[in-house]
Amino acid sequence: MAAESAPTGQRWTTSIDHLGPADAPSVGGKAANLGELAGARFPVPPAFAVSERAYLAAMDAAGIRKDLADRGAACRSADDTLLTRESRALQTLVREVTLPDDLRAQICRAYRDLGPDVPVAVRSSAPAEDAADTSFAGIHESYTDVVGEDALIDAVRNCWASLWTPRALTYRILRGYEEEPSIAVVVQRMVRSDCSGVVFTADPRTGARDRIVIEAALGLGEVVVGGQVEPDTYVVSKDDFTLIDKHIGNQSFAIRPGRDGDQRVNLTSAEGTRQVLDTAQVQEIAKLAAAVEEHYGAPQDLEFAIEDRHLWLVQTRPITTLGATDTGAAGDETRDTAEPLVQGLGAGPGTATGTARVLSTLEDSGRLQDGDILVAPMTRPDWLPVLRRAAAIVTDGGGVTCHAAIVGRELGRPVVVGTHDATNVIEDGSRITVDGSSGTVFAGTVTPAAKPSVRQRPAQLQVAAETTATTLYVNLATPDAAESVAATDVDGVGLLRAEFMITGALGGAHPAAMIAAGRRKEYVDDMTAGVEHIAAAFAPRPVVYRAVDLRSNEFAALEGGDVEPDEDNPMIGYRGCFRYVREPELFSLDLDVLHRVRQRLPNVHLMIPFVRTRWELAECLDQLDHHPLGADRGMHRWIMAEVPSVAYWIPAYAQLGIDGVSIGSNDLTQLTLGVDRDSGVCKDLFDTMDPAVLDAIDRIIDRAHDCGLTTSLCGQAVSTDSRLAEHLVRRGITSVSVTADSAARTRRIIAAAERRILLDHARASARTKE
Ligand code: PEP
Ligand code: MG
Repeated sequence: MAAESAPTGQRWTTSIDHLGPADAPSVGGKAANLGELAGARFPVPPAFAVSERAYLAAMDAAGIRKDLADRGAACRSADDTLLTRESRALQTLVREVTLPDDLRAQICRAYRDLGPDVPVAVRSSAPAEDAADTSFAGIHESYTDVVGEDALIDAVRNCWASLWTPRALTYRILRGYEEEPSIAVVVQRMVRSDCSGVVFTADPRTGARDRIVIEAALGLGEVVVGGQVEPDTYVVSKDDFTLIDKHIGNQSFAIRPGRDGDQRVNLTSAEGTRQVLDTAQVQEIAKLAAAVEEHYGAPQDLEFAIEDRHLWLVQTRPITTLGATDTGAAGDETRDTAEPLVQGLGAGPGTATGTARVLSTLEDSGRLQDGDILVAPMTRPDWLPVLRRAAAIVTDGGGVTCHAAIVGRELGRPVVVGTHDATNVIEDGSRITVDGSSGTVFAGTVTPAAKPSVRQRPAQLQVAAETTATTLYVNLATPDAAESVAATDVDGVGLLRAEFMITGALGGAHPAAMIAAGRRKEYVDDMTAGVEHIAAAFAPRPVVYRAVDLRSNEFAALEGGDVEPDEDNPMIGYRGCFRYVREPELFSLDLDVLHRVRQRLPNVHLMIPFVRTRWELAECLDQLDHHPLGADRGMHRWIMAEVPSVAYWIPAYAQLGIDGVSIGSNDLTQLTLGVDRDSGVCKDLFDTMDPAVLDAIDRIIDRAHDCGLTTSLCGQAVSTDSRLAEHLVRRGITSVSVTADSAARTRRIIAAAERRILLDHARASARTKE
């Protein structure tokens, strides 16, 4: 494409020393933030920005600016195939642009000013990035270790082209961005971090402003920021910068920058438990952090890197405290005087009054009007549309971990399960009140005793959000509440159950029947849309998608579900990973969906359910490796730890290449104690806090940790029992995943547990010094 010269006298590049917050609209938030730090003489690696006007001018000069804008806008109504094709074509157009001579000369001059052939990182800086709205984080491309002028110009063009990837296009469409997109670029000298980490200029666990807390690890800082390893923690007094406490972490691996991209390097136990920073370095970092806090006039959360003992500041942002969200429903009370009609297990908090609809089969569901109360023997995934319409759910069978309870709770409905005889006792058409907290159903209208919910409390009584080292995820089973849950203080989705999404998206058809009827594409399209909806709401936070855990009893009733075997014990039957070994075509549906979603939203990862032994996981992973998704090394591969055999097999599973385990304590409790989790009759036996279950959990965490795997727990008990959350934090779990209604409370429990651990540690070391 012919180069035309840009209007003369234009400045396309600016050294970050001359940038500040006011420049964010022209150079993006990332460059503007770095500029403010550099301007205040903080040690920021030298860098310059190529403005977003430079991008637009280059597109103008190449004569493609209007074409890009028009075709990009047309993608809003394009189907997936067309969008992918257009995206490819638009990226090629941008990559083939010849830069106007003046622009190219300015970029090369600014590069030479950084030093002769210096390796640089070339990063996209979108207009909203790193500003108050960080929604573009992770959407556009960055390139590291770029050396030489030609390679630099290519990298700049590639950053520009990343405005038009399927991911960026879809992201803008989903977020409703209509303005012409543009992008700035930051070119920064590479820092080869020997070690790095984060600093808080107030103690994030206690809020104490007279403390500075530093977390450090070997190599690049993403392992600290992402909570992938246990870093060293240093607590420093802000008054005189003395070291008050230190806790040496345990780092199983480090990420090191290399010529061929970042490398994961395993560390020996001696390397991983060696102190990362000496006292002089701790104090130097603390002084720098205090100075940055003074500059901004507010507590800061900074990222630093040390290269050849030189300290660099990589990023800073204010520590924000948000009003906590809490449903408050758990504490609702019903009038003491009312006589209960039936009593079961409170499985979804809140109360509702309405007309009872006793449905023995799904075929009757037309009788349930919006706002009626569903009373049924038990529900399955294909009941989702009815659950959505019901004001509350009451079942004869089930325990608190049954899928009816899980989904009812997620939809925000009061749920009572395990009543034995609700379908006999409750009269169809009668007016009833359901108290999902106490598990009681009353005849007539029973008003809760007056007690303000947390939402109604005066704002000043709301508690500030906590920052925790333990990651807090939520469990989701439907896209219904994705946006509202994503707007709360959670770190992502630790378990996306696909079973209910199938029925939600596909109107109750069995996946195998869809394949047999030649409707495979329809299945993949609909599921992709559902998963994308959730992934976009949470991006860039991770969403762990669990491949469908097909259980014969839950899926037999779907349309075409007669393919399911008739099993006496479906909970230990034809399900999970083994099912994928026998029916690879079913697994390929999940793989296709994830492959499609990750093209645009790479925050989605895979989790394999109900893994029982090594060979079946090996075969399942082999299927993954033979699928195009297998080449996608950025995707995490997790397994669920639900069967006690997992504790034994973890080292073998780690060798097969998984990088995380998530403990499914619902199934693990069932299988450790030998108690059917769906049985109302045996409900008193079902106890995740039983020492035998805790021992199984501990062994899984310890062995996974020894093998360098991340650990999580996504079973129901951690949402309801604060003792379990504390136990897990003490055991060093990486994350927990809870129901959305208990996220705020769990965050506080985790924060308090983390503080207690540090306090115990501080007291123990004070005693040894005495
Ligand atoms: C579990 O078993 O704990 C789990 C989270 O999976 P599900 O409840 O869907 O079986
Ligand atoms: Mg399970």
